[in-house]
Amino acid sequence: MQPSLEKLRKFFGLEREKGYENTAIIGGLAKMLDYWEGEARAENIREEIIQAVVQRLRSYEGLSPVSRADALKGLWKRIAETYPEAGQRPAGGHPRPVPPAPRPALQPKVQPDTAAALPARASSEGAPTRPQPTMARPRPTTPSRAESAPGGKHSQTPAALSAPLTVLQGVGPRHASTLATLGLHTLGDLLYCYPRRYDDYSKLKPIKSLWYGEQVTVIGSVESVHSRPIQSGSRTIVEAIIGDGTGSLRLTWFNQPWLANRLREGQQISVSGRVEQYLGRLVMNQPDWEAVDVEHLHTNRIVPIYPLTGRITQKWLRGIINQVVTWWAPAVVDPLPEDVRSSGQLMPLGNALLQVHFPDSQSKLKAARERLGFDEIFFLQMGVLRQKRDWKKAEALHFAVADDWLEARLKAFPFALTAAQQRALTDIRHDLDSGQPMNRLLQGDVGSGKTVVAALAAAMIASSNSQAAIMTPTGILAEQHYRTFTELLAGEGGAMRREEVRLLVGDTSDAEKDAIRRGLVDGSIKIVIGTHAVIEAPVQFKDLQLAVIDEQHRFGVEQRAELRSKGTNPHLLVMTATPIPRSLALTVYGDLDLSVIEEMPAGRQPVNTHLLRPQERERAYTLIRAQVQEGRQAFVIYPLIEESEKMDELKAAVDDFDVLSKEIFPELRLGLLHGRLKPDEKDATMRKFRMGEYDILVSTTVIEVGVDVPNATVMLIEGADRFGLAQLHQLRGRVGRGLAQSYCLLIPSREDSAENERLLAMTESNDGFFLAERDLQQRGPGEFLGTRQSGYASGLRMASLSDLPLIEKARGQAQKLFEADPDLLRPEDALLAESLDRYWGRTSGDVS
Ligand code: ADP
Ligand code: MG
Repeated sequence: MQPSLEKLRKFFGLEREKGYENTAIIGGLAKMLDYWEGEARAENIREEIIQAVVQRLRSYEGLSPVSRADALKGLWKRIAETYPEAGQRPAGGHPRPVPPAPRPALQPKVQPDTAAALPARASSEGAPTRPQPTMARPRPTTPSRAESAPGGKHSQTPAALSAPLTVLQGVGPRHASTLATLGLHTLGDLLYCYPRRYDDYSKLKPIKSLWYGEQVTVIGSVESVHSRPIQSGSRTIVEAIIGDGTGSLRLTWFNQPWLANRLREGQQISVSGRVEQYLGRLVMNQPDWEAVDVEHLHTNRIVPIYPLTGRITQKWLRGIINQVVTWWAPAVVDPLPEDVRSSGQLMPLGNALLQVHFPDSQSKLKAARERLGFDEIFFLQMGVLRQKRDWKKAEALHFAVADDWLEARLKAFPFALTAAQQRALTDIRHDLDSGQPMNRLLQGDVGSGKTVVAALAAAMIASSNSQAAIMTPTGILAEQHYRTFTELLAGEGGAMRREEVRLLVGDTSDAEKDAIRRGLVDGSIKIVIGTHAVIEAPVQFKDLQLAVIDEQHRFGVEQRAELRSKGTNPHLLVMTATPIPRSLALTVYGDLDLSVIEEMPAGRQPVNTHLLRPQERERAYTLIRAQVQEGRQAFVIYPLIEESEKMDELKAAVDDFDVLSKEIFPELRLGLLHGRLKPDEKDATMRKFRMGEYDILVSTTVIEVGVDVPNATVMLIEGADRFGLAQLHQLRGRVGRGLAQSYCLLIPSREDSAENERLLAMTESNDGFFLAERDLQQRGPGEFLGTRQSGYASGLRMASLSDLPLIEKARGQAQKLFEADPDLLRPEDALLAESLDRYWGRTSGDVS
């Protein structure tokens, strides 16, 4: 079985063992998408399977355990149908260690902190001079993980911190394998396993002195628990009363029915949340809660709460971490040069590690968090600056075009470029003639006209008889770009012949593939547009000088590197429609130059967006009929492909297609597009829709990226609450691409999610940047960057990407140091140089 499928099998199995609590992977199953999608593509897993996995795992967190079970089973069944060798049940039944998540090759090799922790030789030799606490001396070990993760993130960590956890007193192989499921394999991992939150027992309040509106932690014993259905049975509410001798407090949780069995009468729990009022009594809604370790009630300190898995307790883990921290934190050598530390007013590293686990006070905790977060951003920035400099050191060919050449091209276009497109084009034209490889991110909201700019860049390269390759995440998109390119460049007044521009996708016929390969090798083909097929091994170029990557967040870092490696220092242009807020752009894409197309082509009207309740669906249908009457077309989007047994709240495209075509729109022509169709069937359906042979295209989100049918004016999204803001905005971007007024209608799958903030934000704004900022606030940077975009950011655990002041501070310090000592040759920078090398693994290449 392909390794990527094997991985799914393992994690799904683990998830089942853990009762579908979304704990098989820290941060939730969706986290695995960070690397999985890239791997699966690299293994040529079928696109529709990849899409199905991405889709389900993205929405996984929002499901109840029962629906999660269904979702994973349905997904696995689907995979097994396509890949019979995967047909066995997901693994499970026995606890098993989870293999460390492999990281894309060029990501940071270790956490900055781990890397920084000790000078290379301060391993167990340093130990004897220190008083020995409860911990067994690390035995010299052959780190067993080295086999499972060659070149993995700890390969260069100093010996002591890379010792396996079994060197600790009280940690046997069984505990070690449980800890492994939390991503904890070595002493270093424990040192940097930051608490999820803290209980400040020095500030605990008795229930009777709680105030309305306060955010507090309270401890009490459970006096009663019960659950009852609400809203005519569609949801459940669990209510508990806790008391602490001074009073009692009502707690409520919505839609977590399993809590009723989890909470026991008499049990001591701590709950954190905001105190609210209901019918004159104090209540806490949806509090975080946890069974209390009574011992700490009397210790009067700030107690760390760690992320946990089912089989270990807070108390045990805290004890283990205490061993490691007490022993190692003070021995840690701080890699930051003194001037950086003092001008940044930063706590020394060893102290910060101690305080972050067992803080003496809130203010020390704050300083510790600031220091650790600073390091993450600082390391990242140093890497980014170095990367950018290395890029600039390389040489690339000059490609200059004459003004009248460009004017002739533009004159042949059916429209004039917007000022923003012209600016982007000027940037690119300058880069291509700079003698250094272009490394540019072209960012522009959906529909802003990035493709046109890319086509002109490719034409500049082709006009010197060199070659350009354009890679897109889907065949539909490749085909569409192919049409745009040929119309703009090889049409009337164009600079190229049709056969110089070719389309290469998965289902291109073998004969055509051969012809294209030959043409690329002999140089007669100048521009090739395709899916990952263009980076497959047999494809070779005579002289590839420009690599363009569309919807770059859909690709893994490796694929970009692969495409570039088909040439020698080719120019690189990556395009994205996901607007990136400033704080992120500074951090995540710091090594790329940025052009932003912030303006829409003239005449575009904002898409009129409405949130409808499920029972108002008929209004949506009426609008669609009226628009079709006027010669327009419509999309109807469903979140899933097929109905899996119990997920009956989800509308399913396949079934609903019948209803839509036979009962609701019997007089109209409907096409159906979903991930299970073969690529050529998909393209055929898409083509018919584009040609106007269908009035309505019913589809899953396979059309999410890039599809351009200007005559379509209605986008109806069913189950809209299932989508993230960025995705909704992408989908909405499929309409409003022509001059006519367009409409986007959002129908959530359940009535009460009509209040969903995300959906309201959609009705308030058509501005991708505004929505991205919102999304970032609502979901946090991890989720926001989600998959694949987070190359850099995945190393950030303490720093928040929304913490702009911290980012700017660390960035400023990094820039200052980089200017003073770019190669870190000063003696005082030596430790830092070493740590940075470990962090970045000495590789250079694509990082974002
Ligand atoms: P993006 O890839 O940025 O989402 P596209 O490049 O697909 O956008 O362009 C969206 C639509 O706008 C296409 O139909 C394209 O032909 C059209 N278009 C692009 N630039 C202009 C322009 N300057 N004026 C009018 N229409 C344009
Ligand atoms: Mg596009």
